[in-house]
Amino acid sequence: MYFIPAGQAVDEQLLSLGYTSKDLDYIILSHLDGDHAGGLQLVKGANNILVSREELEASKGWSRAIRYNSKQWEGINLQPIEFIDSGIGPMKRSFDLFNDGSLQLIWSPGHSKGLISLMVKNEYEDYVLLVADTGYATKSWEKLIIPGISVNKKQAYQSLKWVKKMTRQPNCVAALASHDPDVKPHTITL
Ligand SMILES: [Zn+2]
Repeated sequence: MYFIPAGQAVDEQLLSLGYTSKDLDYIILSHLDGDHAGGLQLVKGANNILVSREELEASKGWSRAIRYNSKQWEGINLQPIEFIDSGIGPMKRSFDLFNDGSLQLIWSPGHSKGLISLMVKNEYEDYVLLVADTGYATKSWEKLIIPGISVNKKQAYQSLKWVKKMTRQPNCVAALASHDPDVKPHTITL
């Protein structure tokens, strides 16, 4: 059970910006944990909803009580993406959504099998990393503390080390974790 304050559900936040889910070309799911997939039914009108094939397959092997709850995406066409050997990311595998490097979906497993970190890049190669649950907060990669929930601790460590390395690059504008209590909603212009 999650409590979302009035006006804070994903469809309500979209509406406040003047959009509905039908206006969305893509939704990219970092992974399928309940606290990341829980709002899917509210935005099922989106044109494409993407998840990694690894994550989708992993979700079939868990009982709903423990981790994944497939009811959250019942009736929704989750499209699996296939990472390729790109040399990008902790496992050197990623998926370039628009084929121009502007949005790389990067395989960063450990916390879950098919976790995606997003790298959003502008034409000057400046980038923002959205690392989802690769680490729970900035402190996680600064001190290399892997998530308490990890299906593969070695990969989780490798993924976190990659995040840390990427945050040290001069072109890194920001790296954001999903659960960092110190990060308040804000807008980044690239
Ligand atoms: Zn998670």
